[in-house]
Amino acid sequence: MYGRIKDDLQRELAGIRERGLYKEERQILTPQAADIRVVYPDGDPPRQVLNFCANNYLGLSSHPKVIEAAHDALKTHGYGMSSVRFICGTQDIHKELEQKISTFLGTDDTILYVACFDANGGLFEPLLGADDAIITDQLNHASIIDGIRMCKAKRSIYLNNDMADLEQKLKETSGARYRMIATDGAFSMDGTVAQVDKICDLADKYDAIVMVDDSHCTGFMGKTGRGSAEHCGAMGRVDVITSTLGKALGGSSGGFTAGRQEIIDMLRQRSRPYLFSNTVSPIVIKSTIAVIDLLSRSTDLRDKLESNTTRFRSGMVQAGFDIKPGEHPIVPIMLYNAKLAQDIARDLYAEGVYVVGFFFPVVAKGLARIRVQLSAGHETSHIDRAIDAFAKIGAKYEILGKGKEEIIERYGA
Ligand SMILES: *Cc1c(COP(=O)(O)O)cnc(C)c1O
Repeated sequence: MYGRIKDDLQRELAGIRERGLYKEERQILTPQAADIRVVYPDGDPPRQVLNFCANNYLGLSSHPKVIEAAHDALKTHGYGMSSVRFICGTQDIHKELEQKISTFLGTDDTILYVACFDANGGLFEPLLGADDAIITDQLNHASIIDGIRMCKAKRSIYLNNDMADLEQKLKETSGARYRMIATDGAFSMDGTVAQVDKICDLADKYDAIVMVDDSHCTGFMGKTGRGSAEHCGAMGRVDVITSTLGKALGGSSGGFTAGRQEIIDMLRQRSRPYLFSNTVSPIVIKSTIAVIDLLSRSTDLRDKLESNTTRFRSGMVQAGFDIKPGEHPIVPIMLYNAKLAQDIARDLYAEGVYVVGFFFPVVAKGLARIRVQLSAGHETSHIDRAIDAFAKIGAKYEILGKGKEEIIERYGA
């Protein structure tokens, strides 16, 4: 009898709208790329815009080599497997990709999942139990939080990227049988890279193992794109790396866990999203093989992304914006006020630059921002156009050269 719950859901949905938190989806009418056509649900005509809000870090979402590999996969390996891995869902190419990822990252082995969300969801429970503890960064991704919830180990949360607090939490959990430190490789709202080397030092000192979710790093952070561990000079020290195929590595879907042999072997026996969910499509597998081959041969794409990031970051500082410093292609333009972030994003869209404002509850109250994401798919002309558009709109709102206090004084937090 669909009655009471219908009324309650309607009321709750109305509440979400009233608080300005209702998420509307805009439609892209082209392949995912640096230059796209977008339509809003409000009936405005579609607009050609430069895309600065995708996770398409290496510009591979619509790369000719990736598309060609997808076509090839359909011919050689079909469309779907209609099975989980351990019944009849493993092809030669699934094993080949696992091997290639292991070689690329320098790990013993790799296990594929249909999403990194599942890799994290199925990681903790098979390895740790009630006698153990997971020490987890405050800003870790929702899928790590959920994965930890499904595991009986005690949870201890440390302040974001705070090594003194991590050490304190390691001391407090000394009674546990095993301990795992869990962190994002890069934090998605700030573009901060985790201090993986220091985390590994602490893990050595306190006899813990280390898990890093490198979804926002694999393929481009570090001199050869191996991720946050390479960026921090800690290659080979991280015990478990989870990551996604849905961002830099082609942007379709899929994820994996790579790491120590016994850990991966145990996940194949006990990890529920792996055991009870269908195999990754051969299309995704062959395309990702093409991506890993491409990234193993040359660092051109991550080098281009790095120079794009430097160009954008220094251009925005020169224009007078308050950005969070760093080296990651995630660049937070700090605006502090939620309405200001939304207004500026909307004005930029009218200028042909597609970016999104983020505010509470996605980031802390009073820390609203526009998050820009650079891509190797951007040309320098795209980046310069974006900086010019930002400068024009920043001047309109009189925020150029203004710091946190002045912006908050004028617009509120
Ligand atoms: C995007 C992301 C995920 C989810 O990846 P999917 O493969 O899309 O499920 C998990 N963890 C982190 C840190 C992410 O940024």
